[in-house]
Amino acid sequence: MCCLNRILYKSILQIVFQIFVYKFKIILFRRIKMEIRTRFAPSPTGFMHVGNLRTCLYGYLFAKKNNGKFILRIEDTDQERYVEGAVEIIYNTLKKAGIEHDEGPDKDGGVGPYIQSERKSLYLEYAKKLVELGGAYYCFCDKERLDSLAGENGIKKYDKHCLNLSKEEVQVKLNSGVPYVIRQNIPTEGVSSYVDMVFGEISVPNCDMEDGVLIKSDGMPTYNFANVVDDHLMKISHVIRGMEYLSSTPKYNLMYDAFGWERPQYMHLPPIMRDATHKLSKRHGDANFEDFLAKGYLVPAIVNYIALLGWAPSDNREKMTMAELMEAFDVKGISKSGSILDEAKMKWLNSQYIKELSEDEFVELANPFFEQSKAANKYDYKKLAKLLIPRVEILSDIPSKIDFLEEFEGYDLELYENKKNKMDKQIALEILEKSIPEFEETDDFSEENLQNIIARIVEEGGYKKGQVYLTIRLALTGAQMTPGGATEMADLLGKAESVRRLKYSFERLKG
Ligand code: GLU
Repeated sequence: MCCLNRILYKSILQIVFQIFVYKFKIILFRRIKMEIRTRFAPSPTGFMHVGNLRTCLYGYLFAKKNNGKFILRIEDTDQERYVEGAVEIIYNTLKKAGIEHDEGPDKDGGVGPYIQSERKSLYLEYAKKLVELGGAYYCFCDKERLDSLAGENGIKKYDKHCLNLSKEEVQVKLNSGVPYVIRQNIPTEGVSSYVDMVFGEISVPNCDMEDGVLIKSDGMPTYNFANVVDDHLMKISHVIRGMEYLSSTPKYNLMYDAFGWERPQYMHLPPIMRDATHKLSKRHGDANFEDFLAKGYLVPAIVNYIALLGWAPSDNREKMTMAELMEAFDVKGISKSGSILDEAKMKWLNSQYIKELSEDEFVELANPFFEQSKAANKYDYKKLAKLLIPRVEILSDIPSKIDFLEEFEGYDLELYENKKNKMDKQIALEILEKSIPEFEETDDFSEENLQNIIARIVEEGGYKKGQVYLTIRLALTGAQMTPGGATEMADLLGKAESVRRLKYSFERLKG
C-alpha cells in the first residue's frame, strides 16, 4: 500500500513537473516570438526634421512601453541624397533627445550590419531567391523601351515584358553582361489588403501597383526591397513610419508572402502640417531639432511637444516627461489626421519647463543668449535669471527682454503720458524730484526697502501707487515693457546706475 502511494506520489510530481516545463516553454516561446522590436530607419540626408524625430520617438516609446527593443538602422543606399556628416547628426539628435537605441551600428544585437550600404550583398542574394520563388524577375529593358511605355496620361507602367523570357534566355543575357534590374512580380488580378494599426484596413487592387525595381542596375537595392529584407532579418515586429508608405505597404506584404515570411504589424503616422493645407517640409526653416535648440527651446519641451503632434494620452495631459510618455504611449491615441505644428503652443509648453528651472539651471542654459546681449554682461546673471524665468517663453527672448539695460538713452518721453494711470509728464517730473534724494540716501536696495520708500512718496505726495511705480520704472529703463517692476529693476541696476538713470530722465523731462 505504502509502495503504491509512493509510486502515485512520484507520478503526480512528474506530471506537475511536466506541466511546469510545458508552461515555461510556452512563456519562453512567447517571449522570444513576441518580442516587440521597432526600428528607426533614417536616411542620412541632413538635419533631423520634426517628422523624422516624431517617427523615431514613437518607435522608441512603443518599444519601451512594451519592454521591447528599439533599433537604429541607417538607410544610406541612395547615395545621391547622402549628406556628409548627417549620420553624426542622427546620433547626436537621438542622444540629446534622450532616445537610447538598443541596437544599431554602434551597438550590435546580432542582426547587423545596421548600415544598409554594408548589407549590399545580402540584398542581391535575397532578390535572387525571390526570383526563384516567382516573386521577382530579371528585366533587361533599356531606357528607350521604358520611355516608349508612357500611356496617354503620360504614366509609364512596366508591361512585364521580361517576365516572358525563358530561364535560358535570362541566363544567356546575364552571361553576356547585359545590364539588368530585378523587378517585383505583382499579380495582375486580385486585391492586396492589410490592417494598419492606425488607419485600419488598407486595400489596394493589384492592377494599380507596378512591378517596381527591387535591385537597381548598379546592384543597389531600392528602399522598396531593402525595407522588407531588413525588417525581416532584423526581426522587426512593428514597422512605425510616415504615412507616405501606407499605400505601398501592400507591395511589401506581397514580398513577405512570396518569401514565406511573417508580415510585421504596421503603424503609419499622419503628417505634420505647417497649416491646415500644407505639410511641414524641410524647405520651411525651423522644422528641425537643431533649429529649435538654437531658438532656445529646452530639450524636454521639444520632445514633449513633438510627442503630442499626432498623439494624445487618454487623459489629454499636455506636459509630460519622457518617462511619463513611455508609460502612457498607446496606439489608440494616434490620430489619423495631420496635426499642425503650432509654435505658439510649443512656446507656451516651453515656458512651463523654463518656470521649473532653478536660477542656476537657467543661467547655464541661458548662457549663450546672455552672451548675445552686451547689456547682460554688466549684471548679475542670477538676478537676471530670477527676473526672466517667469517671463521668457523661449531662451532667445532674452536679449530683447534685457535690451533696455544697454539702450537707455533717447527713449520716448510720451510713455509718461498714461491715461489709465492718470499720468502726465508734469506729475512724473514731481515724482522724480522727490524720488532722487530718497534713492541717493539709501544703501539698502532690497525690494522691501524700496517698496517702503515708494510708499512714503505715495503718501506724502498724495499720488496713486501706480503713478509712482510707473514713473520710476520708466525713468530707470526707458522701456514700456520690462521683465520686472520698478523695485526689481532698481535692484538689478544697483544704486549708482539707478540714481544716474533717475537723474538723466528727470533732466530730459525738464526739457
Ligand atoms: N529611410 C526611410 C525614410 O527616411 C525610412 C522609412 C521607413 O521607416 O521604412 O523615409
